[in-house]
Amino acid sequence: MKLGVIGVGNAGSKIVDKMVEFESLTNRKLCRHVMVINTARTDLTKPDHIPEDRRILIGDTHQKAKGHGVGGDVDVGAEVAKNDMDEIRRAFDDVDIHEVDAILVCASLGGGTGSGAGPVVINELQKMYDEPVYGLGVLPGKYEGGRPALNAARSLQSFVNNTDNFIAFDNDAWRSKDQTVGEGYEGMNRELATRIVTLLGAGEYDEPTIAENAMDSSDIIRTLDTDGISSIGYASTSVDNSDGFMKRFREDHEIEDSSNSAAKINGLVRRAVNSRLTLPCEPSSADRALIVLSGPPSELSRKGLESAREWIENEVDTVEVLAGDDPRENANALSAVVLLSNVTQTPRIEAIQEQAVAAQEKIAEQEAVREEEIADLITDKDGKIDPVI
Ligand code: GDP
Repeated sequence: MKLGVIGVGNAGSKIVDKMVEFESLTNRKLCRHVMVINTARTDLTKPDHIPEDRRILIGDTHQKAKGHGVGGDVDVGAEVAKNDMDEIRRAFDDVDIHEVDAILVCASLGGGTGSGAGPVVINELQKMYDEPVYGLGVLPGKYEGGRPALNAARSLQSFVNNTDNFIAFDNDAWRSKDQTVGEGYEGMNRELATRIVTLLGAGEYDEPTIAENAMDSSDIIRTLDTDGISSIGYASTSVDNSDGFMKRFREDHEIEDSSNSAAKINGLVRRAVNSRLTLPCEPSSADRALIVLSGPPSELSRKGLESAREWIENEVDTVEVLAGDDPRENANALSAVVLLSNVTQTPRIEAIQEQAVAAQEKIAEQEAVREEEIADLITDKDGKIDPVI
């Protein structure tokens, strides 16, 4: 699929950057237009693969932002984006988003800019373009505390209500305890970019490629067209893609080899569904599913794909399972990506909502007594001392 990709906020921009890096490393052609939008000038200097003129600073004249971010305040994030809508619209016009199949907006939901400005940007994109607009959102980990959970619970509603599909990534599930925060994010962003680019980049090549079961962007759009929340599973195995001995060996053992390939593919797809999903969920609660098998053409087997499709149909208990190949001549791995669309049983989302409700109550309690507490603190016991003014 041909994609316009927009990162909003710090994490959103880093994820877009990683997507562009992964697609150039693997010779894919997914991100036709890229842009990042932020309220923090310093964060806009972080991406390595986004052209300078595709980095948009908003809110630099806003009293609470002034180019330094919005301090995790989702309402300020939304306000800044609304105030600077003309500038955002102009940036879209300059980029002239055309000939794309869909637009993807990436953001984290736990901060202020991505979670607040993201939905405002999405709203505008929905008005400006006929193509589907998808969200890719990072959910904060439990360990981050109540405020990010509250931001995320509020922003999730806005993202899901305003996108054609929302693909979720759960920091809680992907955190590695023996890494620094920076290393951890770098690794998580790479994992996410690998999944999203392998999935959405299927079927896009420099030169026309004839494949029997080729994945088509309409299959991806069909699977995502549920208005719900999605999760992605992924598994890969390295393959010997050298031309010589292995190829001759395969030709000599063609029949045996084709049943081996089929079993390998079936196993790989099962592994993808049973792996750590971008959002942990119950696969059987999904409405639709899609399998993309990516690797050297010699490794792709129709029989394998068919039996994997059948397995998912039973596992997910839906008849809406599409499957396709994404042949990559020079790939040295065979990868299976499984998109589970409109999953409804996801304990993490419930947990975030509970944490958010508790945080909201605590904030309200603290606000109610704050003035009284300050007055108590600064006045002497018998009220004998007066203020200067
Ligand atoms: P914003 O610029 O105000 O939108 O703020 P951030 O994007 O930094 O949002 C903070 C949230 O994003 C927290 O939940 C962080 O854990 C998470 N976060 C920050 N950077 C990254 C990243 O590179 N990868 C991931 N997966 N999460 C991140």
